[in-house]
Amino acid sequence: MGDEKLKQELLYMVKLTSKYDFTRMEVVEGILRLENEREILGSVFGKRFKGRIFDIAAGVEVDDKCVICGQHADNHVICNHCMETIGDSDYAKNKIKTKEKQRLKLNVNVKKCITTVILALLVLILLFQIWILIMWYSIPDYNKPEKPRVSEFDITPVSSEEEAYNQIILDFPEEEGYTVTFGRADTEYVGRFNLELGDCCLEKEDELTDEERYDYFFTEDVYIFYISYLQNHSSKVGMAEINQDGEIIIEGTFNDGRRTDSFYKFR
Ligand SMILES: [Zn+2]
Repeated sequence: MGDEKLKQELLYMVKLTSKYDFTRMEVVEGILRLENEREILGSVFGKRFKGRIFDIAAGVEVDDKCVICGQHADNHVICNHCMETIGDSDYAKNKIKTKEKQRLKLNVNVKKCITTVILALLVLILLFQIWILIMWYSIPDYNKPEKPRVSEFDITPVSSEEEAYNQIILDFPEEEGYTVTFGRADTEYVGRFNLELGDCCLEKEDELTDEERYDYFFTEDVYIFYISYLQNHSSKVGMAEINQDGEIIIEGTFNDGRRTDSFYKFR
């Protein structure tokens, strides 16, 4: 039996002796059960130790000789001298130090591991945020507003619903799939017909100065037409307003990528 093994065994016996009350059978049974599994106490001292603690637990008369050195032992197992010598030995101290070192190393490792995981998570979160940022800035590229559609025809004054209709269908002809229906005669802001071609009424109205506002919101008579388009699985709907001068503004889904809740200067 190696020296190391014996030292380990003796230290184990000392520890058990200092820690447990061998008069309690459940304690001794626990130790012996563990011993059956691990087989630590294999030396002559170990065997003596096992026999002694079992006798104590069983209440059998035992002698008071130390199981290690044979001197008198107050606790009937290991004498004070052996307890102290083995418990204070360099070997025992090294054992404790090694254990502490191992625990320390484990702690450091666990901390390192946690730090790595946290770092990885932070990097992931950062990457995710960058990705969202990139997506955010690239959205305008996916959905670029197309130039609003404008009329190809000249402004021609109209004096009746019929003349107005004839002007509207020039841009939205029936043979191309459009249906133009007269809605009603109404009034509309003068300023909307004075915008540049393709300009959005609501956008421009936000920018008006008080002075411009005064002129802009006068009203004039207009004819209102509903326009619908349904062909090749695509549909568009909207409306057009034409004033007496023959200027036209339209609203609806005819201007791809533009807001559909506002009129545009069309002709
Ligand atoms: Zn002894």
